[in-house]
Amino acid sequence: MPSTVQFSKAAANVFLHVLTRCNLRCRHCYINPEQHGRRRLPLARIERWLEILALRSPGANLVLLGGEPTLHPELPQAVRAARRLGYASVTVDTNGYLFHDILARVTPAEVDVFSFSLDGATAAVNDRVRGEGSYAACVDGIRRARAKGFRTSLIFTVSRANIDELERMGALLTGLGVGRLFIQVLGLRGQAAADAAGSDPATLRVPRAEWQARVPAAARAIAAAGVHVVYPRVFLDSGEPFECAGRVADNFFVFPNGRVYRCPLCEDFPVHGLEFRGDRLVETAGLNECDFFRLNVAEGCVMNALVQPFGTERVGCCLLKQELPPG
Ligand code: SF4
Ligand code: SF4
Repeated sequence: MPSTVQFSKAAANVFLHVLTRCNLRCRHCYINPEQHGRRRLPLARIERWLEILALRSPGANLVLLGGEPTLHPELPQAVRAARRLGYASVTVDTNGYLFHDILARVTPAEVDVFSFSLDGATAAVNDRVRGEGSYAACVDGIRRARAKGFRTSLIFTVSRANIDELERMGALLTGLGVGRLFIQVLGLRGQAAADAAGSDPATLRVPRAEWQARVPAAARAIAAAGVHVVYPRVFLDSGEPFECAGRVADNFFVFPNGRVYRCPLCEDFPVHGLEFRGDRLVETAGLNECDFFRLNVAEGCVMNALVQPFGTERVGCCLLKQELPPG
């Protein structure tokens, strides 16, 4: 049986976007330069912000991401700063191109996990979503990381374009030695939100009946093949308890322009609850995401009710996950 990963005030997570630039143009990319800026964070600022967040949430888990974070030439120094500051774990999210010879400049003792992204079990499906050649580059990156002894995980974002290939990920991941799969629901942010007509399968979400019929079954099959699988519940049954991570968990989604969100679904709007002003982390004044978290709406997650096209469906927090251990 899957266990539900509960939010915990004891577990804090910092998602630090060290830049927003990327070599790919994925059709569902959530990065929104109008809202998140186009800057690359200087190392001194990364170190200072990491220090401030480590003081606020000692022992947090850190995810370094972008854009493509390996495009940042000082990523190894950022990793080592995080280690010095006592972060419980350090993950680098990457599209697999692994720029600046990153695998030779950090060690498996410094980076807990390289987390790759693929949106198909085949090049044909993945490359329609993420761009020509991205499947081969990602698989090659995984192989190179494994050969150097790094632990790896993989993120697969489910859409109409790739749900048929989800179950096939088990054989691919076990063949590559990837230990963990994170299945994600497509967030309608950035490029996905820009496709307002919903004409692109890569930016179309899978409705409730199909999600519930296919995703948990595929997750079980992949776990049975030997991969640790984490996937979002997405839809709640009537009467099922609802909790908003914005109220009970400690997550920080930090962008190079200083915005710090507590909920990723808010990232297309200037409603961040915190922001860095220079080297100070301050609460934002006026209406912000924290005011939304307090609202109780029949649809469950208030941000889904406001910006996501699930109609009157009752939707859980996108940060609430189901977890299936391997085997
Ligand atoms: S989704 Fe990630 S890899 Fe794709 S374009 Fe956006 S930042 Fe780059
Ligand atoms: S996704 Fe919804 S439920 Fe989760 S933190 Fe955001 S607003 Fe709250």
